[in-house]
Amino acid sequence: MIDCIFCKIIAGELPSWKVYEDDHAVAFLDIHPVHEGHTLVVPKKHCTDFVSADENCLRSVIVATQKVARAVLAATEAGGVNITTANGSVAGQSVFHLHWHVMPRFENDGFRLWPQSTYADTGVELMASEIKKWI
Ligand code: AMP
Ligand code: ZN
Repeated sequence: MIDCIFCKIIAGELPSWKVYEDDHAVAFLDIHPVHEGHTLVVPKKHCTDFVSADENCLRSVIVATQKVARAVLAATEAGGVNITTANGSVAGQSVFHLHWHVMPRFENDGFRLWPQSTYADTGVELMASEIKKWI
């Protein structure tokens, strides 16, 4: 896709530190890592985000993401990894080509990703049934 930086990386038109490639997916180091070893896994075929991706595309990328996560854990000797994807600019997505972040995590590294809250009264029941309606 024209003007997509990840399509350009996949096509070799922009430089990247590629760590993995198969028929459907590519993985390369994030240029602004949360920790060294922070890697992005992307489908070769352009799709905008997780929600709009077709199932076949998702399947192959998630399997590649597992391979990459194992390699990142081994290479960085991290205690864990966060595997995330932002869907939509309101959720923090800044590159509109589906990508999974594989972020190494270390004991006491101080990152708390989300504040947490609680449901009031029957809110939890209502929310669960509302979501179920759409599946
Ligand atoms: P997000 O904000 O969740 O869409 O993630 C996009 C990620 O892409 C950010 O973490 C950026 O640091 C990373 N990024 C942007 N441009 C490049 C690039 N040319 N090479 C590697 N990573 C990039
Ligand atoms: Zn793209």
